Amino acid sequence: MTRLIGFSTLATAALLIAACGPTPEQTPSAIPVTPIPTAVSATTPSFGAAVNTERLVAFDSEPGNWMSVGRDYGEQRYSPLEQINVNNVGQLSLTWYADIDTSRGQEATPVVVDGAMYVSTAWSHVKAYDVRDGTLLWAFDPGVDPAKGVDACCDVVNRGVAVWEGIVFVGTIDGRLIALDSQTGEQVWSVVTIDETKPYTITGAPRIVKGKVIIGNAGAEYGVRGYVTAYDAATGEQAWRYYTVPGNPADGFEQPELEMAAQTWNGEWWTLGGGGTVWDAMAYDADLNLLYIGVGNGSPWNQSLRSPGGGDNLFLTSIMALNPDDGTYRWHYQTTPGETWDYTATQHIMVADLMIDGQQRRVVMQAPKNGFFYVLDAATGQLISAEKFVPVNWASHIDLETDRPVEIPEARYDETGVPMIVYPGPQGGHNWHPMSFSQRTNLVYLPAREQHRGYVADPVLITTDRGWNIGLDSSAGAALVEAAGDNAPQTQAYLLAWDPVNQREVWRSPRLVPNEAAGVLSTAGGLVFQGNASGEFNAYKDDNGELLWSAMTQAMIVAAPITFTVDGVQHVAVLAGGRSLPTTGAGAIGSTTRASTNNSRMLVFKIGGNAQLPDELPQEVSAAGELNPPPMIGDSETIAHGEQVYGRLCSVCHGASGISDSVGTFPDLRYSARLASAEAWHSVVIGGELVAGGMVSFAGALETADPEAIRAYIIARATADREAMTR
Ligand code: CA
Repeated sequence: MTRLIGFSTLATAALLIAACGPTPEQTPSAIPVTPIPTAVSATTPSFGAAVNTERLVAFDSEPGNWMSVGRDYGEQRYSPLEQINVNNVGQLSLTWYADIDTSRGQEATPVVVDGAMYVSTAWSHVKAYDVRDGTLLWAFDPGVDPAKGVDACCDVVNRGVAVWEGIVFVGTIDGRLIALDSQTGEQVWSVVTIDETKPYTITGAPRIVKGKVIIGNAGAEYGVRGYVTAYDAATGEQAWRYYTVPGNPADGFEQPELEMAAQTWNGEWWTLGGGGTVWDAMAYDADLNLLYIGVGNGSPWNQSLRSPGGGDNLFLTSIMALNPDDGTYRWHYQTTPGETWDYTATQHIMVADLMIDGQQRRVVMQAPKNGFFYVLDAATGQLISAEKFVPVNWASHIDLETDRPVEIPEARYDETGVPMIVYPGPQGGHNWHPMSFSQRTNLVYLPAREQHRGYVADPVLITTDRGWNIGLDSSAGAALVEAAGDNAPQTQAYLLAWDPVNQREVWRSPRLVPNEAAGVLSTAGGLVFQGNASGEFNAYKDDNGELLWSAMTQAMIVAAPITFTVDGVQHVAVLAGGRSLPTTGAGAIGSTTRASTNNSRMLVFKIGGNAQLPDELPQEVSAAGELNPPPMIGDSETIAHGEQVYGRLCSVCHGASGISDSVGTFPDLRYSARLASAEAWHSVVIGGELVAGGMVSFAGALETADPEAIRAYIIARATADREAMTR
């Protein structure tokens, strides 16, 4: 396995980096920065965000706007704009940029309409810019309690806003749906969409269908039950709620089909939540009046604990179609029956017309984590085709007679009792990073990656008030991969051009960093735009993947680009800022890296733009010289116990095997000065000293001896790594 490691230039203060994100204020605040300007350009912007059904359905009549995160209701993320094209993209350059005041991960696709750009950032903040020059119109901070960050599986990110009739909507990491005035950023209404006693979060963008705002949530690593809710856009009043998994049958069923779904579960799954959160993908077909939602993994992952004896566990890992008017069920297709590997079907869903076997078909497409690319009939959910887009070893193929995967029995690690390295792993063959379907080439461009995990069942589900409860032994899983050494499966990432009709690869463009991924945009100019983990924003030729243009952005990019026009001139924009810059060399222990600051920015480009980023300070450091752990403490049993607890509670943020791969956001604890002092260590782990940065007290989740055991493990890990580096 290739392991990425990163080293902070501020290594001795590494632990304090947890607090380097700004401390959100405790109360919501809109900060009007600039008075709304009077007309200075050919087009007077209204900043009115006067989006309605007519405009959203007729999206192609105003190609200069990007009115919803997926651009069109079918979320193809393809633009008919062609001013910027294969002939002139080499002259594309920065025209304005805006620094973002949070250093955590940035995953949002912006929305551009009526002269303004609206974008959400980490901690569920929202910014509005004048698209002409990036003037900040207003900024909104919902005042999320930073302690809520511990409930977010994968950083306090947000993937975008929705706009409707003068209102901008954002879901917050603490479970609120907030409506903001598009011109002032003032809060119009706010509703709590979750049971606040449970570890739900919201990271996905709201969608709007006919005056209803639809929002899902996340939390299936922590023991919750998934659902989506629709609210009246004008008032915030709840219109309907749809549960994706059944609750306790003794309490009755909220929806009739949940009775059928409950037949596919065993045991007392409702006491564990069950999972099935709808944390990202949705799409809408106006002709069919169907809302598509992507349903997540089981909670806990390990099915033998969640539903002893198996069962399909509907509607986990399903693509579902609902009537958006009343939230009633229309159809479902389950990608991974009896899910046990974190194979969510929450990945990007898109609706398109494809010519299949001489027939025009309206289809739904998805490339979920499980590694198969699915094409379904949009009206009925009938499976048309499914093929592997990355190597897969949990199933041999999808049987088109039964519509089900043909599993490799050993991959179901829980039933056989034999641990197994399964691919894809929980990061998926494709994760949330948006794809794009080009109407020019009829290809889908998707950020694919080959990942794996050692799956080792934990026979007892450990549930605490902190950390993941997934029913797997993470440390044993990591050891399984480590023991495989060179025999472990390959790890790599690439931008993949996929022909969805013939279900085959057309070209691929390899990525430098083996676990990187970033969202994609395609255009009628024959271009595919994508950022990368090395801080480059690139344009590729859509028919062969040739790199035509590249700009350095000084920040890792994971979000998807968009394109729009300003006074008739085409622009391209992307929100930069990943969890941090990764190592420059695909890292072995001892490699060096650049400064790991996370230069989060909105970047906007046009032909002949003349803005320049500030000079970056290159800070090549020798990592080996800075890793300086205190003397070892504890015996081998203590260290082994510390590794167990670390794997369960700490590794999600601070990195597997004690090595952080995102030090700009989550410190690499091997470098912590606090390792030298039991008191300094306890004041954070138990005392909650760094809660302002999101590092809450883990007092409720740890036995008395655990914090010292974790400290002993990290010191041992750092000592071993230091020896390896200096050898
Ligand atoms: Ca998950």
